Amino acid sequence: MPESKPVTLVTGGAGFLGSHLCDLLLGKGHRVIAMDNLITGNLANIAHLEGRNDFQFIHHNVTEYIDIPGPVDIVFHFASPASPIDYLELPIQTLKVGALGTHKTLGLARAKGSRFLLASTSEVYGDPLVHPQPETYWGNVNPIGPRGVYDEAKRFAEAMTMAYHRFHGVDTRIVRIFNTYGPRMRPRDGRVVPAFITEALKGEPITVFGSGRQTRSFCYVADLIAGIYKLAMSDCHEPVNIGNPSEMTVLDFAEKIRGLCRATSPIVFKPLPEDDPKIRQPDIRKARAVLGWEPATNLDQGLALTIEYFRGLLAKGLI
Ligand code: NAD
Ligand code: UDP
Repeated sequence: MPESKPVTLVTGGAGFLGSHLCDLLLGKGHRVIAMDNLITGNLANIAHLEGRNDFQFIHHNVTEYIDIPGPVDIVFHFASPASPIDYLELPIQTLKVGALGTHKTLGLARAKGSRFLLASTSEVYGDPLVHPQPETYWGNVNPIGPRGVYDEAKRFAEAMTMAYHRFHGVDTRIVRIFNTYGPRMRPRDGRVVPAFITEALKGEPITVFGSGRQTRSFCYVADLIAGIYKLAMSDCHEPVNIGNPSEMTVLDFAEKIRGLCRATSPIVFKPLPEDDPKIRQPDIRKARAVLGWEPATNLDQGLALTIEYFRGLLAKGLI
């Protein structure tokens, strides 16, 4: 019998976002292949999918040639270290997966006639001089700073994706993801949400970098994944920001986490990492107009679900 379900490859499928994307795609009736080399991912994120006949995991480094027998209808390229600590520890792997990994996955999409969606990032805007950041802003990135390995890899990945679209006619999409949080983030990945929650739950000091006056805007994972699916199903080839425009300072965020965790942890200050963006807020007018998407989960609701997840890890002795 011919395959009737769309066959969809998710690179980085054992990671935080990739695993949630696998869940959503399976719910929409796709046959999902998750590909991951587990460099920052965790098989526990997809353990609940093991044994399904519409799900397959392939352990593979996507910077190497990708061989998938049979048709592939859609490729979601999510493989990449994503937290500042990870890409500072893995600078070459980060550059390679953004450059060579994007080349390999685009090559696969071209050979199979698949649609292709690149997970890009708000980091392409660097330390922005325009606020909030619309897709038309070209950014303010330090190419040789410590974050350059991630920012420039993603900028290269966007350029490569547009080249495959324009030159080879591949049906591509680019999502620029802003700070997203939720269950399955790695407790010690260094990003602000898991860092503050684990510190608060363990009664340790909450470590704010710099003065804490820098801002971020946090999007709940289910909202983000819903927006990305809408983008994949749209006909928009230009980049689209997906994120939550509700912006706050990192210090206010620390106080919010402390309150929601009912913790008494002191807030302590550590030096601001080099090139840490001072402000960030997505301009999501394009996502609203083109996709009819906007976030539906408010911060307190999303954080409650996330804190519950981390409490579960704590109870199992995993943090
Ligand atoms: P994550 O670290 O949880 O997931 C990334 C996954 O990619 C991991 O499972 C890792 O093992 C895998 N991977 C890395 N290099 C690989 C390689 N060479 N071959 C195969 N697999 C490889 O991070 P995440 O937060 O889920 O991020 C997923 C994607 O979304 C990344 O591309 C990231 O740049 C992008 N993004 C995330 C955010 C966010 O807030 N979470 C924001 C902007 C962009
Ligand atoms: N941050 C912090 N304490 C931490 C981790 C992060 O104060 O333990 C700050 C970080 O300096 C940045 C913001 O929180 O200003 C968001 O950091 P994250 O690593 O989550 O992602 P970024 O948006 O910088 O990529």
